[in-house]
Amino acid sequence: MILRIPKPISGGLILSYKCNAECLHCMYACSPKWNADWMSEENLGKILSQLAGTIEPAPYGPESIGLNHGLHFTGGEPFLNFELLFKATEMAHELGIPSLFVETNCYWSTNDKGTRNKMRLLKESGMRGILISVNPFYLEFVPFERTERAIRIGLEIFGQNVAVYQPEYYRRFKEWGIQERLNIDDYLKLERKEEFMRNVEFFMNGRAAYALEERLQGAYPKYPAAAFFNEPCVPSFARQWHNHFDNYGNYIPGYCGGISYGDCRDLDSLLREGIQPEKHPVLSFLINEDLQGLFNFSKEYGYKEAHTGYFSKCHLCTDMRKHLVRTGDFQELQPKEFYMHLE
Ligand code: SF4
Ligand code: SF4
Repeated sequence: MILRIPKPISGGLILSYKCNAECLHCMYACSPKWNADWMSEENLGKILSQLAGTIEPAPYGPESIGLNHGLHFTGGEPFLNFELLFKATEMAHELGIPSLFVETNCYWSTNDKGTRNKMRLLKESGMRGILISVNPFYLEFVPFERTERAIRIGLEIFGQNVAVYQPEYYRRFKEWGIQERLNIDDYLKLERKEEFMRNVEFFMNGRAAYALEERLQGAYPKYPAAAFFNEPCVPSFARQWHNHFDNYGNYIPGYCGGISYGDCRDLDSLLREGIQPEKHPVLSFLINEDLQGLFNFSKEYGYKEAHTGYFSKCHLCTDMRKHLVRTGDFQELQPKEFYMHLE
């Protein structure tokens, strides 16, 4: 039976996986070590023109933004290539794609004038808002005073279309008078490990499970693989909202870094024709049998369960895929570099 691919109604365009930072929690394993393979204008045109027919506006209309609505530009860090970000915004705006916003870690916001200029240029080209990332992992790479500047000037330029993700960490940093960068070990001295993720959304996915293992030892429980066998990936996996489209042409489901439904440069055909399960066994197991099927399949390829256990179903899933990408040729495990940058 053909596997149907969800028609995306919102999502993010990964302009490149290159980033100035190498956050311990990065779902897409981005870092400065990736090649600067920025999305070409040709691919931008192909992807945007097809998304123009599917992306839906935020609840308050196309001029407003919502994290799970419209289209956002992301990475990696999109401000590393401001020219491309500007061009992408212009193209998306001309195509009538609603609720456009950009996601950034604000490393570039070093002074008021430059910050205001960049935001103004983006606004004039059709950008409706900005999503500013705030948590202790970014704080290792970006002085908090830059984040504060970007929020202050963002409010001036984009008004209410400024989203801070996550406000609870913003509150904590302000309360503790943080202004500069802070490494994670020093940050953890400010609060108990158990409190670290209190009142915040956190996904143990991508690099997080590997990078945080030692630091959070004992504070967060791990479980054997079987504990996650019956946790469904659908709908979190095959959903229509907040999917991603990367610079290599991969249509990435949700937050599942390293998995590709297929070529988003030919999205219309992908949606129309679906994919054949026998050619995409990893996708097929995830959609039809959740993690138990993929676990049994991975064992056939020599995967050994980690005796230390797993933090989450996504940790188990990533670990199995990390093994499969080395031992087989699975076209749905893309981009391959993702698996090299996890640790
Ligand atoms: S989480 Fe964002 S800022 Fe951090 S490495 Fe990933 S893309 Fe870069
Ligand atoms: S378990 Fe795998 S496929 Fe399912 S949501 Fe997590 S990373 Fe995605």
